[in-house]
Amino acid sequence: MSANREAALKTMKKLERAGYQAFLVGGCVRDRLRGVEPADYDVATDAHPEAVMALFPGTAPTGLAHGTVTVTAEGAAVEVTTFRREAGYSDHRRPDEVQFVSDLTEDLARRDFTINAMAEDLRGQVMDPFGGQEDLKRKTIRAVGEPLERFTEDALRMVRAIRFHAQLGFTIDPRTEAAIASCRENLRPLAVERVTAELDKMWKAPHPAASISLLWMHGLFCCLPPFFQWDSIADQPQVPLSHLDRFPDSDTRWVFFLLACGVEADKIGMRLESLRLPSRSVKRMVALAQIAAYSPAPPTAEEAKRWMLEYGGDLYREGISLFPGLERLGVEATERLSQDAVGWLEVMPILRREELALDGQELADSLHRVPGPWLKPMLEHLLEQVALGRIPNTKQALIEAGEAFGKPDS
Ligand code: ATP
Ligand code: MG
Repeated sequence: MSANREAALKTMKKLERAGYQAFLVGGCVRDRLRGVEPADYDVATDAHPEAVMALFPGTAPTGLAHGTVTVTAEGAAVEVTTFRREAGYSDHRRPDEVQFVSDLTEDLARRDFTINAMAEDLRGQVMDPFGGQEDLKRKTIRAVGEPLERFTEDALRMVRAIRFHAQLGFTIDPRTEAAIASCRENLRPLAVERVTAELDKMWKAPHPAASISLLWMHGLFCCLPPFFQWDSIADQPQVPLSHLDRFPDSDTRWVFFLLACGVEADKIGMRLESLRLPSRSVKRMVALAQIAAYSPAPPTAEEAKRWMLEYGGDLYREGISLFPGLERLGVEATERLSQDAVGWLEVMPILRREELALDGQELADSLHRVPGPWLKPMLEHLLEQVALGRIPNTKQALIEAGEAFGKPDS
């Protein structure tokens, strides 16, 4: 049994012993019924947050206003949420009011999809008032209750439907899908971070292409933040989206997706920042986009070596792996280019400035100059000259090349 599950069951036992109801709820029940080990376990109870906190010393009030506290048991964290009803979603993103209730079914009724609206007690009995098990069998994503109402309350549910479509490979029930198309205007006020988090989860699914194409099919980009604020998102993907499924990681999928949306390579950084992605990933993705959009494809050996010097061999090869998807070069030609790159990297005499036969101080002394900001571009130039095999990595050759670099053009 996983530590998370053990912690959840222990928490439930303690709640029951204190006279409260306690159930596993949401994604963990769904995943267990599918035979998949859940990533995390959520517990729902009729105990109010203060009662939960009193029962478990050292709990963190994670979202007290919404009734959630985090209990640590057996070294693992369990989110314990009080049964609640939600009312009045005037901004289409969160409830104006949350009321604690004592009835499990009411709590399940506020949940998004039938497959996420099941609960399981300590004895393994499943509570399923909305037909979640039947929908699991039929591999269907269906809103709990009236889809139009549910998407008007919280517009993120539409993006979540598409995310579960990607993650589980289920189809979306026709009425639920029709409501997605007709409620799209409600998407506008959503927080970008929530949209980005759902897209990020889609990239981790094995085959996100078919799900992403739903965004186009239902015309969601005209209302989905931050995309609707960008000056242009193509009406149709610029290249076949099916390629998306071939890329192994999220970074490459983000870059491919944005290029497929029609974002120009030089705007990728700006667009990724507006998606509130972490700046470390943005830097990497910008490099991937620059390599992928580099023209003319294929790069020559010398151009490839320059890219590898700047970003390393792995990133370069990942960048060119986007060529076939962007219809810039065929699959086989790209594979050959990638293999060639391994060979080119091996014959490059050095890859880092520290490997030069002279350091900055020695170079400055040899040129009879005081070290300063002028050194950095010169060292970078020397690194490139040596790495590309134009000059040997000897002190003499470096000093001569440094002198030539320092001279103004005549
Ligand atoms: P994952 O495996 O990605 O964690 P999950 O189903 O556990 O999937 P969470 O975002 O962790 O999804 O949410 C936990 C549960 O809370 C869901 O299963 C669902 O019952 C409920 N839920 C989450 N977000 C919403 C929402 N926007 N509207 C209604 N219910 C929601
Ligand atoms: Mg979850």
